[in-house]
Amino acid sequence: MIVDLKIKRFDPSDSGGKTWWQEYSVDIHKDSTVLDALIQVREYEDTSLALRCACRASICGSCGMRVNGNAKLVCKTRVVEVAPNGEQIIVEPMGNQHVVKDLVISLDTFFDQIKRIKPYVQPDESPESGEYIASNESMENLLTSMNCIMCGVCVSDCTVLEVDSNFIGPAALAKAWRFVEDPRDSKKESRLSELNNEDGGIWDCTRCMKCVEVCPKGVSPMDRIMELRESAIESGNKNTPGYHHTESFYNSVKKHGRLDETRLAVDSAGITNVTRLLDLAPVGMKAMIKGKLPPILPHKSEDHKNIKKLYNKVEGEEK
Ligand code: SF4
Ligand code: SF4
Repeated sequence: MIVDLKIKRFDPSDSGGKTWWQEYSVDIHKDSTVLDALIQVREYEDTSLALRCACRASICGSCGMRVNGNAKLVCKTRVVEVAPNGEQIIVEPMGNQHVVKDLVISLDTFFDQIKRIKPYVQPDESPESGEYIASNESMENLLTSMNCIMCGVCVSDCTVLEVDSNFIGPAALAKAWRFVEDPRDSKKESRLSELNNEDGGIWDCTRCMKCVEVCPKGVSPMDRIMELRESAIESGNKNTPGYHHTESFYNSVKKHGRLDETRLAVDSAGITNVTRLLDLAPVGMKAMIKGKLPPILPHKSEDHKNIKKLYNKVEGEEK
């Protein structure tokens, strides 16, 4: 079958870098992957096309690219999946990372993020018997995160990294969770405290779920980040805007049956934090001009009494 590809090219040698789109048509087997089609282009149509791949079995994590706008491992993506009716397939390098040439990105950003979370077990003492023993059950719990093949696909499509390059990122935070949960590690509390307080840490995720959607190995980074938040709170880390935001959200719905947005903004900033409150002033002014300022006094939902009963029931069960 014939497949049409539109590939984003980048030539770094052309005075500061030149970007352009190039179209190709190649004849491939109907069960081929997007990677097969790209290799066909490179081997028979245009040897200047740069791409990276290795195992071709979704194990090594080398061939992450954006296909029709979403990051994927192209060795795991069949052409018929993304172009069921013979549509043109658009292939770009992954996002949020530096492009070296054409479809090849540098992994420096990715590994800089991983290094920030100290990705190794830090035990208290040397093991007595020459190795650290952990029960099967305690390690089974870590499998979701340990399935990560460091492909960078989640980093590519993280919506926070698009606007804040200081965010630690989904892959590194999923790995941080793995060490927080590791029974051999003795730094759980300090890890949680750092992840809680660090600029770009666990509270900067907006829960957009994009990393969950694109991860080819089921690591579900956002879920791991939410578990880190819970662990951080349970460990007594309650001094961040992120925690205050969560607490305000919870209390507001409990009290009014709906979100009190004005209160949420003030509580998140911290009622005594004048600098942060002043930072909110321009946003408030813009919202007011556009007629979108939430009411100063919150409206109660008609169902607020029932909602409160639900809260009381769940809180009672938890006790
Ligand atoms: S859920 Fe959080 S970590 Fe995952 S892509 Fe969205 S913002 Fe990034
Ligand atoms: S969490 Fe998933 S998408 Fe992210 S680097 Fe690991 S395997 Fe790739």
